[in-house]
Parts: sequence; C-alpha cells; structure tokens
Amino acid sequence: MAKKTKKTSKKVAPKKSTTKPGGSSSRVKKKGAAKVHAGGLNARHTTKKVARKSARSGGRSAPAADRRPRKDKMVFYFGGLGTEGDTSMKQLLGGKGANLADMTSIGLPVPPGFTITTDTCARYYEGGKRLPHGLMNEVHQHMATLEKETAKQFGSDENPLLVSVRSGAAVSMPGMMDTILNLGLNDTSVEGLVKATGNSRFAYDAYRRLINMFGDVVMGVHHDKFEAAFDAVKLRYGVTLDTEVPSDGLRELCDAYKEVYRAHVGDEFPQNPFKQLELAIEAVFKSWHADRAVSYRRLSGIVGLKGTAVNVQTMAYGNMGDDSGTGVAFTRNPSTGENEFYGEFLVNAQGEDVVAGIRTPRPVDEMKNWNARVYKQLIEIKKKLEKHYREMQDIEFTIERGKLYMLQTRTGKRTGGASVRIACDMVKEKLITEKQAVLRIPANDLTQLLLPSFDPSKKASADILARGLPASPGAAVGRPAFTAEEAVERALQGEQVILVRRETSPEDVDGMHSAVGILTSTGGMTSHAAVVARGWGKCCVAGASAIDINVAAGTFSVGGRTFGRQDLISLDGSTGEVIHGNLPRIEPKMSGDFAKVMRWADKYRTLGVRTNADAPKDAARARDFGAEGIGLCRTEHMFFEGDRIRSMREMILAESKEEREAALAKLLPYQRDDFIGIFEAMKGLPVTIRLLDPPLHEFVPHEEEMQREMAMRLGVPFEKIRSRVMMLQESNPMLGHRGCRLSITYPEILRMQVRAIVEATIECVRRKIKAMPEIMIPLVGTRAEFELLRRETEAVIREVKAEEDYTPRLDIKIGTMIEVPRAALAAKEIAEIADFFSFGTNDLTQLTFGYSRDDVNTFLPDYIRQEILPADPFGTLDQSGVGQLVEMGLVRGREGNDKLKVGICGEHGGDPASVEFCHRIGLDYVSCSPFRVPIARLAAAQAALRGN
Ligand code: ADP
Ligand code: MG
Ligand code: MG
Repeated sequence: MAKKTKKTSKKVAPKKSTTKPGGSSSRVKKKGAAKVHAGGLNARHTTKKVARKSARSGGRSAPAADRRPRKDKMVFYFGGLGTEGDTSMKQLLGGKGANLADMTSIGLPVPPGFTITTDTCARYYEGGKRLPHGLMNEVHQHMATLEKETAKQFGSDENPLLVSVRSGAAVSMPGMMDTILNLGLNDTSVEGLVKATGNSRFAYDAYRRLINMFGDVVMGVHHDKFEAAFDAVKLRYGVTLDTEVPSDGLRELCDAYKEVYRAHVGDEFPQNPFKQLELAIEAVFKSWHADRAVSYRRLSGIVGLKGTAVNVQTMAYGNMGDDSGTGVAFTRNPSTGENEFYGEFLVNAQGEDVVAGIRTPRPVDEMKNWNARVYKQLIEIKKKLEKHYREMQDIEFTIERGKLYMLQTRTGKRTGGASVRIACDMVKEKLITEKQAVLRIPANDLTQLLLPSFDPSKKASADILARGLPASPGAAVGRPAFTAEEAVERALQGEQVILVRRETSPEDVDGMHSAVGILTSTGGMTSHAAVVARGWGKCCVAGASAIDINVAAGTFSVGGRTFGRQDLISLDGSTGEVIHGNLPRIEPKMSGDFAKVMRWADKYRTLGVRTNADAPKDAARARDFGAEGIGLCRTEHMFFEGDRIRSMREMILAESKEEREAALAKLLPYQRDDFIGIFEAMKGLPVTIRLLDPPLHEFVPHEEEMQREMAMRLGVPFEKIRSRVMMLQESNPMLGHRGCRLSITYPEILRMQVRAIVEATIECVRRKIKAMPEIMIPLVGTRAEFELLRRETEAVIREVKAEEDYTPRLDIKIGTMIEVPRAALAAKEIAEIADFFSFGTNDLTQLTFGYSRDDVNTFLPDYIRQEILPADPFGTLDQSGVGQLVEMGLVRGREGNDKLKVGICGEHGGDPASVEFCHRIGLDYVSCSPFRVPIARLAAAQAALRGN
C-alpha cells in the first residue's frame, strides 16, 4: 500500500474546488500546516492547478451554487491535504459531507476523508445498480491521499488505516441509512492494529464491530445472530457488559462472528480491504431505497433528492479505553430551546453505542469530571459552530485517548417551542436578525405551542407510574401498543395508541407516526425515539427504565403492577412522567417569545388572516390568536344544537310555505342570539356569515328507529317522515340541492337568516357593540343566481330596518363564495354586483379534480404513494390546477370590480405553502381554523419576506 501512495499521490492529490483560490484556500493551508506536515507543499501545488482549470471554464465569477470543479468528478476530499467541499454543496455532497468539509476548513479537528457525491448514487441506480465506471479508481486515488495524510496504510500489518463508510443525504434522515465502522480490518491488519496501539483488546473490539456491522449492513445478516454469539462469550467469561469482556474473549468473539458470517452469507468475511470498501459503498447506495428510508421520506415529506452521498473517513477510536469515548450533543436544549450545551456521552464506546440505546449514556455535563479539558474544548466548539452557522447544531464527537475529534454537525432538530425560543435568543445575541428569525421558524411547528398540556393542579393526585426523560413535549393519552405494526393497525381503527418499546429503531417509523405518543424504557435524549419524535413534534418519554416490557404478553410492569392494551396511560413529554389513567388537559397560553415572534410576523406580512369559526368561544380564541375577523361563519352547525334540530326538521318536513315559515320563525331567535354572541366576541372585526349550505338531507335521520322517534316527537305519521327523507335523497348530494340552490327554491330560508343577521346587528348597535357582518352566498355559479339572491337579501335588510325604525346607515356587504369552477370563469360579471369573493377551495378542489371529498380516501393514498400527486390536494392547494382558477377568479373579479375584497376560506387557508401562494397572487386575506391562525400569520410573513 505504501508503495502505491507514492506512485499516485502526485496525480491525485486533492484539489481545491473553490474558484477563488485566495479566499478559503488560505484557511485550508493554515489548517493543513497545523495538522499535516508533509501536505503543505502539495496543497499549494494543486490549488494552482485548479485555479487554472476554473479560469478556463470561466469559473472565476461563477456564483456559489455553481462551484463545481468538474462535472464528472465523483469524489471530494476533506483534510489537511486540501478540502474541496463546503457547506453550500449539500445537494452534491449531502449534509454530512458538506459540513465535514466545512468544519475542516474552519479549523475544527475532523478526521480526514472524502465524500462520494449524491450524483454518483443517482448514477448507480440509473446504471441498473452498478457502480459508475471509474468510481473505484477515484476512490483508490483518494485512499492513497488519505494514507499519505495519516501516515497509515489500508490493510497494513504494521499501522493500518481504518475508515468509516457513512451515508448522508442532502436532508438529514436520522439513522435511516447505514454506516460501517472500522473498515479495513482483516486477520492481518488486526494484528497490525495491536502492534500500532499496543492494545489488543481494543483491536479485537474494533474487528468484532466491523464483522458485525459489515455482516448486518452489507450482507443482511440479522444483528441478533451476532448478539447471540456475544451473549455466549459473555456467559463464558461471567460478565454482563460488553466492556467487561477481556481481550481473549474478544478474539474468540471475532472467530465466532466470522463463523456467524460464514453460516449466513455462505462465504468468508472478505479479507481484501478494498473489496470491503467497494461492497460497503454499494451498501450505502442501496440503503437509499431501503423500506425504512423510503417510509421516512414519505412521512416527512422529503422529495426531490438524488440519493445519498457516501463519506469515507479515517476512524477516530472512542473504544481505546477509559480515556476514550464518544458522544452526541446539541448546542442548545432541543426540547426547550434553552441556551445550554446539551448532550450525552459514553466512555470507551464507539459510534452507534450512544444512539442505539444499548447502554444508557451519561449527560455531557458530567464530562467536566471525566476530562475537563475536552469539555472546555467542546464548549468552545459549540460557540464557534453557532457563530459560523448561526443556527443550533447537533454534533457528534469522539475522544481518542483524550484527543477530541468532530464527526458531524448539522442543524439540530427541535420542538416548536425550542424553535421559537432559539430564534428569539439568537436575535438577542445578535447572531441573526429579526427577519431571519421569522423566516427560520417552521410555521407548522407552531401547532405544538398551541397544544393542550396536562393540568398541573391534577398532577398532585395523579398516579405516576414512572419517570423517564422529557424527550419531546406534549400531553398524550392513549392505550399501549407494543409493536409498530400493532400501533399502525389500531390507529387505523381510530384508537389513540401509545407506542411502548424498549427502544425504537428505524423500522418502527410507521408505528411511531401512527401513535399519539412514544414511550421507551431505554435510551437517552438523543436516542432514535427522541430524535424522530422531536422532529415530528410528537410527545415522547424516553428511557423510563422502571418499566419492564413484555411484548409477547402485550403488557408492561412497573412497581409490581401490570398494564395491558386496555389501560389508559398519559405521557407528559415535558416532564417525562408516565401516568396511569386519563389526566385532564388545559389549553395553552402564549409565551412571551411566541408573542414576540407573532409581533414580528405582523410587522412583515401584508396578507390578512381571518378565522373560520361558528361559535363565540372559537371566535374569541381565534381573536386571541390574532385573527383579524371571521372569514367563514358556517350557519348549519347552529341548527344541530339542543331543540333547534327539531324546528329545523319541522321546517324540512313542511309541505307549504306557511308551515315552513312557522318553523323558521322558531329558529330565528336562536340564530339572532348566536350572531350577537359572535359579534360580541369579535369586537368590531368583520364577520363573514355564510347562508345555509348543506343539502337538507343531512339534517334528517336515516335509520328507521330514529325516524319513528322523530315522528313521535313531531306528532306526524312515520310514513310521512320516511317518504320525505326518501324524497330528499340524492345520488350525488355534493352536486345536488345545496348552497344557493336551497335559497332559490326556498327563499324563506334566506329571509330568516338575513333577518337574524340584521336584527342582531341592530341590537348590537343599540347595545354599543360594533358589528360588521358580511353576508356570503355559497355555491354560486352564475351571475343570475347571485343577482336574484342579492336582491332578496337587500329587500330583507330594508324590511328589517323599517320594522326596527332604524335609520342610520347599515353597512352590510354582500358577496359570494367562489367554489364552482364556472364562478371562477364568470368572475368578472359576478364581481360587478358583488362586494367580496371568498374562495371555497375545498369544493373548488373537489369540483376541479372531480374527486368526491367523501370518497377520496379510496384512491388518494395510491396517488400519493406513486407520486402521481405531490400532496393531498385537500390539504395543500394544488397550485398548478386549482390555483389557476383561484388566480383567474381574482384577476377577472378585480376587472369587474376594483374594490372587490378577496379571500380564501378553505382548509388551505392554514397551510403554509398555500398561504404563500395566496400572498403571491395578491389575495386580501386567508381564513383558517382558530388553531392555525398563528401559523398563517407566520407563513404570511415568511411569504412576504421571501418575496422581497
Ligand atoms: P448517522 O447518520 O446514522 O448518524 P453516521 O454516519 O453519523 O450515521 O455514523 C454513525 C455513528 O458512527 C456516529 O455515532 C458517528 O459518530 C460514528 N462514526 C462515524 N464515522 C466515524 C469515524 N470516522 N470515527 C469514529 N466514529 C465514527
Ligand atoms: Mg446510521
Ligand atoms: Mg450521525
């Protein structure tokens, strides 16, 4: 190997990719000089070479995104001999690769290595799962450079170079793909490692890990098979912990592992290190399409990536004894956002040991007592990284005989609460600006801040079963499920389940997603369960070690009591408490930081935000959350409460106009009072009231028993009820007798509703309450429909004013919903006589796609899975289709009436991507459910800031 290095080093010495050799290369040189003695000359040499090259391709002034040296270049080096990547190259080098290069450049202690690009992974698949031609050549050349930099040789029997082979896509997917450590060990080099380190226990520990990981990841030998062999050795030596097995035991273990490997693979464990490397690279590429990785991307909405990069990196040994170790940490608390160094470490351990939850790690704080110097160095690195990235980081590090190495940094996943707090703190610390803070908080994550929490006053008397780590906040109540599959199945049946596991693994992601909360009995704050749950904002308590789980029996025991699938438990993700029973919850309060972020958002947004609310309580809450009015007040809900439904049914059963009017007269006072309540709650903000919309059929009972009861109550023959219900039945009710069509047939319904609105308004005026009703006529498709109903509405307004002897001006706007495609097309002529439009994008989506909203789940999941649709169009607005109708309706509407006010009131009004669209096309406001109001406010500010 050593010979080879010499021969190739000239040709392959890594090149600086940057087109500005002056800028970052000097940083690298400095770093190179500090770390590698021999490399200085060489690095300077190659810098020149690349500079020439980029000048030729006119690359000198190329923008950062185009800083790609050669199109077919597959491998990028990082280390003292030159660093070719940087943090802007995440798409090409993956997040891990780009940041390893970046950390090297800013002078952090990173073991040198190289990154194979994500393009190469794409080419691997394009080529029918074959490594692209020339890749292994490039890899060989870079290995030679690595040998030179480390002064070790791959496969050497004297001083072997060992590497890790790590996956890493552009977007981080914690633990979803594979990593192999200690690659390059074989029967010869393991002895070389003994010689070089004088530590045979360590050498064989590294070797057994390699055989295990390689067997598992590359060859698919189940980890349990190796575990069994390990248990046998431990038993023989009478020990329980991995770290207690002596050197001889580990030697035996390596033989046993090779035996396991042979038995399951049908071949020997490969002794050729380059064969190992090639197979490992291919395995990482393959892990891109492993089921769990595909699931995770689907559940997290990650699309459009080319593949994973592969990082080959010199090993740092955390398993060399009690002066070595490994850990993971966040630069701030990822649950609360508090500015404290927050993490865990394990002494004498390697890589996955911490995250896998096999041994429970120690809090990073305790490192002060273990090695104060390293702790101090880590704190400095925390500051340096935060200053460099201006973001909270999630780091991985290893200490080899007291020397610290950085192995990874990335933007840390955090809860919604932490996100808000960190953004506010970083503004205070002058790390970021207010605008950056607004842009950085994922709008959807605010949901977590609006969720209820357990009532603290009920905690005192609660039956607390155990305490684990507060891994991800939330208050979840459900029944235990003991496997991921079980969780998925029972959740599909509509049950609220808590996934209870010893630890979770990437295979469990579907089950974790289905559960309302996750409880594990081992593992720390950075265990798989904790990281994934926080990323999703799902409640999680980790490492509740008092809990003993029996998967086979479907029970867990704690403190001598046993609980099963039928028992309700409450999980408090903010305190780590596991509580028996259903603990009552209370509504959230907005924190100071939250309010501050909302104030910033309001400063930058131009789009209005209203709410959809039908009851004074919801209206008041939405107002507290910052709603600037009600964009949709549905009136039908008001007809279900108490005895109102009786009068409603009487009205529906009526055979004559007179009978109908009599029934409606009974409903009138209820409606009027409802409106007064809502006007009061909204304190002068506009309230858009939609007239009755659903088909009447929805108000009558369908089972015979219920119909008989109704007949009795109303004192009419059962037959009459039955035949009337039958008459109301329609084949396509959503396309049937509903919306404004009801008011055309039964104008008395419209008249009652408008009367209630006007009477309520006048009443409010007299009580000195400002009321701003807007009357909205649903499902209009033609100008004539609207014209007729508008005239009717105005007539009632005049009538009531006269009756009430009310002479001042009454400003009641009359508008329509645009939810039938024809209305969007005819928007100009409708707008000429309308005061406002509100896009009802639920129906508009249904009618544009021709997908029945009520039946869509029979086929939509297939559409999403096969990426025929990028997302559920009822959740996020289909911008290229339905969005065109919205835009057309807006443009044509404003042509017809330049004062037209235009909003949107479908579910989409609270979806950040749709909000951005609404901002872009120039709507006046979005309207969404009360709990989404803060999200819409933030999303609107983000859209405005991005647009500028
Ligand atoms: P993941 O994306 O799942 O975190 P990583 O590639 O980061 O996978 O590696 C898994 C574990 O192995 C991490 O704990 C990491 O710190 C450790 N590891 C990876 N490469 C090395 C190395 N060169 N030396 C020591 N530990 C390593
Ligand atoms: Mg991994
Ligand atoms: Mg990692």
